Amino acid sequence: MNPGFKKEMDIAIRAVMAASSLCIKVRTALIEGSTMTKGDRSPVTVADFGSQALICKTLKEEFPHDPVVAEEDSQELFKPEHSVTLGQVVRHVHDFFPKAPPGQICSWIDWGGQQPGERFWTLDPIDGTKGFLRGDQYAIALALIESGHVQLGVLGCPNLPLAGNPTGEERGTLLVALKGRGTVESDLAGRNRTRVRVSPAATPVQARITESLESAHSDHASQSRIAQELRIATPALRVDSQAKYALLARGDASIYLRLPSPETPDYREKIWDHAAGSIIVEEAGGRVTDIFGRPLDFSTGKRLEKNKGIVATNGLLHATVLQAVTAALNRTAQG
Ligand code: AMP
Ligand code: MG
Repeated sequence: MNPGFKKEMDIAIRAVMAASSLCIKVRTALIEGSTMTKGDRSPVTVADFGSQALICKTLKEEFPHDPVVAEEDSQELFKPEHSVTLGQVVRHVHDFFPKAPPGQICSWIDWGGQQPGERFWTLDPIDGTKGFLRGDQYAIALALIESGHVQLGVLGCPNLPLAGNPTGEERGTLLVALKGRGTVESDLAGRNRTRVRVSPAATPVQARITESLESAHSDHASQSRIAQELRIATPALRVDSQAKYALLARGDASIYLRLPSPETPDYREKIWDHAAGSIIVEEAGGRVTDIFGRPLDFSTGKRLEKNKGIVATNGLLHATVLQAVTAALNRTAQG
């Protein structure tokens, strides 16, 4: 029981809801409008900075002693070539905080530029930027960490239909997990709250793997060999962002593999890419480790320095999947 985290949970949920709403508005205004040219990444930039500004402002006011470790900083925004982008960030933030001066909005963004402490927040204002641009999955991911362990995770997935909604017409899901208290899913307004559980699949044959859509972010070839070895016939569910953890937490997939890509074998995962997602899976009954079966250690700075890659499962399959991962790594090492 963590009754002490009630305020943290309420504030984090409110902040992620606001940021999700900003991201949806930016997408509608800039992508469905006529202002975008091919290859233009400005919508994701606007939404990234806007989302971070909203969440950091709230955390700064409500928990002024907690450091916030977030992905963006406002330096880029001040470059002359980004003046239009800055204007758009300001306009979208004004929907929530009218008349806030640009300098103040940038100071909210930069509140996220702190170093991790004993207790701190970590934020990915838009995880899965490519998914955001494509109109696919992306997530707003906020987590509270204490002594290297995630205590609270809030994940906003504006394009993910609620579990059990086969048509997927109504999109937008919020997942909230508090250590020892389970994972709850609702829509982005907090309605239709339900407790989620990982899949009951006890053998790999029944399982479905989820993995990154981007081949640069994990080793698709090894992951597909692992699927073969485990006799998993269903193709992997390729999805951007921590929406993969959401799918695992509610049983739409049973295994999430993130083996380091051969191009970046020494890549260390960023904490904001896994903090919220990992507690959401664990509190739904699943397990999250690195590829060697080590627990994720969030006490090593902005990256998971003591971990490599990610293996997450419904728990029941963890040992079997780790064995297959080890075998795949050994084969790769032997060339
Ligand atoms: P995903 O949507 O699961 O493909 O993950 C998106 C995240 O991958 C981004 O937020 C990046 O921080 C992270 N990323 C960037 N480069 C790499 C890499 N070489 N290996 C693993 N993750 C990466
Ligand atoms: Mg990210």
